[in-house]
Amino acid sequence: MRTGDSALNAARRATDLSRLGDGAEIDVLVIGGGVTGAGAALDAAARGLRTVLVERHDLAFGTSRWSSKLVHGGLRYLASGRVGIAHESAVERGMLLRTTAPHLVRPLPQLVPLLPNVGTTQAALVRAGFLAGDLLRRGAGTPAALLPRSRRVAAAEAVRLAPTVRRAGLRGGLQAWDGQLVDDARLVVALARTAAAHGARVLTRVEAREVTGQSATLRDTRTGETLTVRPRTVVNATGVWADQVDPSIRLRPSRGTHLVFSAESFGGLSAALTVPVPGSIGRFVFAFPAAHGRVYLGLTDEDAPGPVPDEPEPTGSEIDFLLDTINPALREPLTRSDIRGSYAGLRPLLQTADDSTADISRQHAVLRSPTGVVTIVGGKLTTYRKMAEDVIDAAVTHGGLAAGPCRTRRLPLAGAVSGAARDRIDAPPVLIERYGSEAADVLAAARRDPALAEPVAPGMDVLGAEFAFAVSHEGALEAGDLLDRRTRIGLVAEDRAAAAAAAARAFA
Ligand SMILES: Cc1cc2nc3c(=O)[nH]c(=O)nc-3n(C[C@H](O)[C@H](O)[C@H](O)COP(=O)(O)OP(=O)(O)OC[C@H]3O[C@@H](n4cnc5c(N)ncnc54)[C@H](O)[C@@H]3O)c2cc1C
Repeated sequence: MRTGDSALNAARRATDLSRLGDGAEIDVLVIGGGVTGAGAALDAAARGLRTVLVERHDLAFGTSRWSSKLVHGGLRYLASGRVGIAHESAVERGMLLRTTAPHLVRPLPQLVPLLPNVGTTQAALVRAGFLAGDLLRRGAGTPAALLPRSRRVAAAEAVRLAPTVRRAGLRGGLQAWDGQLVDDARLVVALARTAAAHGARVLTRVEAREVTGQSATLRDTRTGETLTVRPRTVVNATGVWADQVDPSIRLRPSRGTHLVFSAESFGGLSAALTVPVPGSIGRFVFAFPAAHGRVYLGLTDEDAPGPVPDEPEPTGSEIDFLLDTINPALREPLTRSDIRGSYAGLRPLLQTADDSTADISRQHAVLRSPTGVVTIVGGKLTTYRKMAEDVIDAAVTHGGLAAGPCRTRRLPLAGAVSGAARDRIDAPPVLIERYGSEAADVLAAARRDPALAEPVAPGMDVLGAEFAFAVSHEGALEAGDLLDRRTRIGLVAEDRAAAAAAAARAFA
């Protein structure tokens, strides 16, 4: 695929919008530019369907940028006996690691330190769970060369992986491997660009209103202009906002919070330091290395009824819960003054009869409204591809569309590269992690224009060329898109302020 084909920018958006205004025919209108909607748009476009994706803010504006960024093998589902969903997760993880996004997903070791508060029974349970995870991996056909087997490690190795772990009473650790995204929002952008390369019109800052199964009013939120489209099918992939598009849907969102630290606070952590939540079985908090020299610590699971905010806020009690759970596993406790930022996201879960959220099924569901809108909700980042396949299958059936079979199992996303081809890319590792095969294009811009070779703020690991690439190829339309989604600089308020001028200049 040529990079240009997948380039999203203001000029392409303007052309695509004016073609829609001229009455271009649409087979599938996908509403929502999170991982689910972007995945659905790619699935539909790759089947040869005339596809339009509309997102009222920016790509990955919603839940898809607030995740733990794990591509997981579904171990937690196994704990509750849901073998099918666990297997599905493990299969999709293998596909992402090997074929679709090997540039964005890397193996991440997970370490459960064996400290005095982890008794022998609990340690045996964790070990049994990790062994079951190995079976899941093998059952999904993912080789140990890609994701190593779980094992017990000595105390010295546990300290090497997690240098700030408590030494007193440390008997070693249990280690398993999973997939980690360099960043969740980058996966969404890669999906949307790949969809565009297959002919989808990807329109951000376009809101869908008055939606039925065969019509919608699209409002350009930049100009206020509206137009009415009559697609043959409509897919509602608006996550926690799904009930605004289709009022027959009943959601029960659950909030998950993460804290953001400097990597130094965890002394060069190279694994997900995973600590059992006291008094619970199969619930953990974990600290893991993240982009821009940071560590994220998560995760809560709180019922979040009521109006859905654009950007959810962590609560004080969630912050205390995360610190109180991780601190007994650390040599020196972390305090609120160590926290550099925080974020919270809402899981788009369907309401169940018993009203609980903690054990609510994370399985996705495809539903059809009385007017014919096909909605997809639930699920997770890891299984976006299968979710997209299921919802487009349903759209094809209900809309009577002539379409080929799903093609996404073997369809690499924009930038996908691995193995020897990756080794040959002449660019710094951090750029290859973010841009894969396109890292050389980003670097070439920096070589042509020395100003773009400079960091966007002193000491920051983002080059001006990355902002420029986001504007020319990744559909960034405003400074916030650069700071909060194409990069994650914005998760730390001081860093956001320091890079704001460079972000504004990128649009000059
Ligand atoms: C805290 C947390 C941690 C998680 N961690 C993981 C993890 O590690 N691994 C994993 O696999 N999964 C994880 N998940 C689950 C995963 O993040 C979500 O299932 C997934 O991101 C949901 O994506 P979505 O596209 O359905 O929704 P969203 O990302 O919310 O996308 C919906 C989009 O629709 C847009 N929209 C809404 N209304 C309209 C309209 N009228 N017109 C146009 N656009 C509209 C919104 O702006 C939004 O961008 C986590 C979830 C949470 C909350």
